[in-house]
Amino acid sequence: MKAATFIKPGKMIITEREKPSIEAGSDAIIKIVRACVCGSDLWWYRGISARESGTYAGHEAIGIVEEVGSEVTHVASGDFVIVPFTHGCGQCAACKAGFDGNCTNHVPGKNNGYQAEYLRYTNADWALVKIPGQPSDYSEEQLNSLLTLSDVMATGYHAAVTAEVKEGDTVVVMGDGAVGLCGVIGAKLLGAKRLIVMSRHKDRQALALDFGATDIIAERGEEAIEKLMALTHGEGADAILECVGTELSIETAIQLGRPGAIVGRVGVPQKEVMNTNNLFWKNVGLRGGIASVTRWDKEVLLEAVLTGKINPGKVFTKSFSLDDIQAAYEAMDHREAIKSLLIVNQ
Ligand SMILES: [Zn+2]
Ligand SMILES: [Zn+2]
Repeated sequence: MKAATFIKPGKMIITEREKPSIEAGSDAIIKIVRACVCGSDLWWYRGISARESGTYAGHEAIGIVEEVGSEVTHVASGDFVIVPFTHGCGQCAACKAGFDGNCTNHVPGKNNGYQAEYLRYTNADWALVKIPGQPSDYSEEQLNSLLTLSDVMATGYHAAVTAEVKEGDTVVVMGDGAVGLCGVIGAKLLGAKRLIVMSRHKDRQALALDFGATDIIAERGEEAIEKLMALTHGEGADAILECVGTELSIETAIQLGRPGAIVGRVGVPQKEVMNTNNLFWKNVGLRGGIASVTRWDKEVLLEAVLTGKINPGKVFTKSFSLDDIQAAYEAMDHREAIKSLLIVNQ
């Protein structure tokens, strides 16, 4: 079978790989229908973080269950499913507390390779999310929205939940990548009244406004803080969604909040250390982390997509066949696509 393979920074190829098989009772084999490239894949694609040559890439997909292990009872062969990047068991303390992205029964980093024709998915029983019907029952737009529930939409929603966005809040979203744009959708679902997005790109500003943003700030750093304060009569925001992960973005996020505001952070941190003293002086809270993908899909997001209440699939602005994996990465690297879709099987 074909699998997207990392060769070196800036170079992805398709290699032939043996089709995976069941190795544990909690496994499922998934025939991938749609996959995609993540903003976080660009860290190693650009050589900012290290990755071993020859490793298989991708962690977001929807597909058909082909085979299940002996312990898997909630999904069966033939089911259409969301394939989250997280692998919650549903049983451990982390999963029970609602943090299935931190499941203690899953070894992180061992389950890559979603940008491929087939995938062996671990902890399949609870983590996979069943979609009613079959792919042919849905339009391309709906399939795109269902695909975002494997990571990006759930991550954006997680930012809004951890920032404790409430009805009537003034919310700032830092970052206009696909996660930030999904954060706009998440904050709106939770009742944000004023939704201010930091964005410098016309196409992303337009999508943010389409998703429910009320204001755009194109400035950065000190200028962005001044602009936000002007927009909020000098008071600051109730909640901030930090969807970038750079030191400047986190420092700025903390300063945008009113006293007692909460920063919900889902941008993967780039630096080992940060100065937390600024949090103290304004009673600002800092939360966030790896999204609870299965939880948010089952509780809120799948229903919202199926009823057409949200359309997060609009973040896919270019689509590619799996064979064109290099072009799919380049489009995101060169900012020609907000997010690249991979059509793997029909
Ligand atoms: Zn991702
Ligand atoms: Zn667990």
